[in-house]
Amino acid sequence: MKAVLPDEKIPRRWYNILPDLPEPLAPPLDPETNEPMEPEKLLRIFARELVKQEMSRKRYVEIPGKVRELYAKIGRPTPLFRATNLERALGTPARIYFKYEGATITGSHKINTALAQAYYAKEQGIERLVTETGAGQWGSALSLAGALLGLKVRVYMARASYRQKPYRKTVMHLYGAEVYPSPSDRTKVGRKFLKEDPDHPGGLGIAISEAIEDVLGDEKARYSLGSVLNHVLMHQTVIGLEAKEEMAEFEEPDVIIGCVGGGSNFAGLAYPFVREVLEGKADYEFIAVEPRAAPSMTRGVYTYDFGDSGGYTPKMKMHTLGHTYYVPPIHAGGLRYHGLAPTLSVLINHNIVRPISYHQTEVFRAAELFARTEGIIPAPESAHAIKGVVDRALEAKKSGKEEVILFNLSGHGLLDLKGYEDYLEGRLTDYEPEHFPALEG
Ligand SMILES: *Cc1c(COP(=O)(O)O)cnc(C)c1O
Repeated sequence: MKAVLPDEKIPRRWYNILPDLPEPLAPPLDPETNEPMEPEKLLRIFARELVKQEMSRKRYVEIPGKVRELYAKIGRPTPLFRATNLERALGTPARIYFKYEGATITGSHKINTALAQAYYAKEQGIERLVTETGAGQWGSALSLAGALLGLKVRVYMARASYRQKPYRKTVMHLYGAEVYPSPSDRTKVGRKFLKEDPDHPGGLGIAISEAIEDVLGDEKARYSLGSVLNHVLMHQTVIGLEAKEEMAEFEEPDVIIGCVGGGSNFAGLAYPFVREVLEGKADYEFIAVEPRAAPSMTRGVYTYDFGDSGGYTPKMKMHTLGHTYYVPPIHAGGLRYHGLAPTLSVLINHNIVRPISYHQTEVFRAAELFARTEGIIPAPESAHAIKGVVDRALEAKKSGKEEVILFNLSGHGLLDLKGYEDYLEGRLTDYEPEHFPALEG
């Protein structure tokens, strides 16, 4: 059972949650002055339209025609499936639906914001976009967006992934992007980390620092971020806006579940539904799933922190493990981040979204069950959502509750088979972090 919308049903506007939040968002702070960030400084880092969207109080922002056209080209609207085989295998009275973002050309939701960001940069006359990538999903998406819109793309890729995921690098090269392992010797901050350890595995936070330093040295370049920021989460709401129409062919969901790294795919599916809850028109439950190795939602502190490890970005008020926290090398590379989207942090504080965390072995076990029943091999990131769904459906079995679960399958895992091999051969480590030094100091 599935719903597929025609091209004309690609949403015409993104939903911006800022005017509907239960409290105003704390402003980003300039790391040099600790005062609210001057927009001029942000304009040197991000394309103009994105800075505008980042602070916009407009509830809906029109999607440019060209971006809608490209959304159709890369596979939007994505299909929404009912996981009947999984339901049967679990013996649950719950009905399980999922939005499948793995059906886009680059295999995850990341392309939804990559196309928008590349479009606005091109409109402004920017020549190059510079970014970081952890697992390679974001780098692949931005590389394709650059190829489709005629922009150069440069990617700093965490060295551990650069080695473990050579095929992602090949994808980016095929789309014409430059890819450097991070930390690299191309930036000051990269050289600093290399001096500490010439074989430094890198991480998202370090790669962000390198990308920003790179951009500050090139007037015609701008930085592009694949998660966390308000405008990124807003671009992802095409997922939830489509899902609402698709679910209308079936039934209303009771529970909405997604995995969380920075929060963009979760927000993309959930925020159009959150809006109804904030307006008192519905009472959906929202569950956000993260890894135990990077537990910013369940064990982080709500405070101002940097978005990167080098301390270059504005400080944002969010749930964080501290920007110096080194996230252990779990296979869900896209979830290896110390912080969290500020808007999602607010929704957690107000108990609108409930966070939970899992170890990677139990997550891979749920992914294996999903592959054997529904056929799709999920990205290890998305598999966190699946584990959340399985547990919820088993609770429903105990209580006999016929609830309707909707989750986001943010990407496929066909380029993550190393992780699956390690799982099948019993080589996974379940990291249980004990200390978060930056939070204790
Ligand atoms: C990047 C990524 C994530 C995590 O990022 P969010 O911004 O939290 O969505 C999750 N799933 C996949 C497939 C990804 O590529």
